[in-house]
Amino acid sequence: MTELRLFNSLTRQLEPFVPVHAGEARVYTCGPTVYNYPHIGNMRAYVFADTLGRVLSYKGYKLTHVINITDVGHLTDDADAGEDKMEKMAAEKAQSIWDIAKHYTQAYWDDIKALNIRQPAHWSIATDYVPAMIAYAQSIAEKHCYELESGLYFDTSTVAHYGALARAKTEDGEGRIEQVDGKRHAADFAIWRKTPAGETRQMEWDSPWGKGAPGWHLECSVMSEALLGLPLDIHTGGIDHREIHHPNEIAQNQARCGSDHSGARFWMHNNFLIERSGKMSKSSGEFLRLQLLIDKGFHPLAYRLMCLQAHYRSELEFSWEGLHAAFVRLKRMVIAVEQIRSQTPEVRPERALKVEDHFTEILLSDFEAAISEDLNTPKALFEFDEFMSERGHTPDVRLGVIHLFDSVLGLNLLPLTRQDLRIRPKAAVITEAEIETALLLRKEARAAKDFAKSDIIRDDLIAKGVEVMDGDPLGWDWRLDI
Ligand code: AMP
Ligand code: ZN
Repeated sequence: MTELRLFNSLTRQLEPFVPVHAGEARVYTCGPTVYNYPHIGNMRAYVFADTLGRVLSYKGYKLTHVINITDVGHLTDDADAGEDKMEKMAAEKAQSIWDIAKHYTQAYWDDIKALNIRQPAHWSIATDYVPAMIAYAQSIAEKHCYELESGLYFDTSTVAHYGALARAKTEDGEGRIEQVDGKRHAADFAIWRKTPAGETRQMEWDSPWGKGAPGWHLECSVMSEALLGLPLDIHTGGIDHREIHHPNEIAQNQARCGSDHSGARFWMHNNFLIERSGKMSKSSGEFLRLQLLIDKGFHPLAYRLMCLQAHYRSELEFSWEGLHAAFVRLKRMVIAVEQIRSQTPEVRPERALKVEDHFTEILLSDFEAAISEDLNTPKALFEFDEFMSERGHTPDVRLGVIHLFDSVLGLNLLPLTRQDLRIRPKAAVITEAEIETALLLRKEARAAKDFAKSDIIRDDLIAKGVEVMDGDPLGWDWRLDI
């Protein structure tokens, strides 16, 4: 097999992946703050982490993946003095914070499922780890922290190379955004935030520094250490985390382990999904959630494919046209696979081929080379297309190869059918059965050369948002366009 090389944000270089524990891959992914629905940009971060996990599994590593759920501690402005995102939303909605967390965690998990993101070994919930966070903070407090009225602060000058990941200096960082009186350095950050005197928070715990709540950065250091042990292999997140959140996690890990090690062999970051009209802001009314895409008639895996068509380190600009193109490509893939399936009586592709077999290795070598070069999914998709256009393999072998390709791509290519891709837009005023009947009548009218009637049927369909696609190369026949 080709050596797996990954881009390490710490060194800004491609490096061969050599696991800390032979044969294993331990991966930690910074999860969502569950104060609102995730937007599709957020979900790009998890499609990336999932693809990484799938590649590691494909390569034969025993994967232990952890994704956390931040249900406390993430402030609205990423500074030390803002409001907690969770508390703010609970107050706005006049709901219990626990209900808010439950609702949005479930909504996030729904999106995870719809995007065919595999279940990690653990979903670590931040509030389950508060006693561990207090113990962790106690263990580093004397040497690395100082107490102010508002909380316990980490002194970033007590660790070597603070901010190396961000390529920042000590005076840069979140302190620039919000000054807190008494901080020794602008970049110092709260690891425990005290509840201000006279106030009560919905979520607060007793601690040696008074009632309060943990800082967001502390949470990830504690949970990654607790579940995976330090150093772990790969820590992932969106590119914004490279600037503040991850440098702060690294500082804590260094303090905790008493060494210069960052706590992870690799730090990997996905670039952003960009949307220029502001629809990705959660504060705008109809923001870009996966459900909105589905409501408009797109299959959620078209969005997954759209992500895979770009390299994870490139910015990806969202557009409806781009999503539409990805959907058409997905249809092509599914229809082609369906065709092969129809040629073989019993489909058991998972038994047909093994990655380790020499024959399979040759068939998959270009695909494998693509994913081994820092998860080059655009190239891997091209290799998929190439393979599909090759003749001469039996249907069983072809399905076996597709099965292996898809174990990395995660597009559900074998189970999906053409019918599954027909997503009814929420605003549709006509059912599929009605469309099919109308098209049949139109076909009959045309056969009888009654073109006036066939035009009326077509105009009626258009009025109801149905585009009739005569001669479509995919044989798609019609499309509901709302
Ligand atoms: P949050 O819930 O705000 O902590 O974000 C969850 C994840 O989404 C983090 O890894 C962020 O870095 C990532 N993220 C936020 N916005 C975007 C975006 N527009 N594109 C890609 N990833 C994003
Ligand atoms: Zn994190």
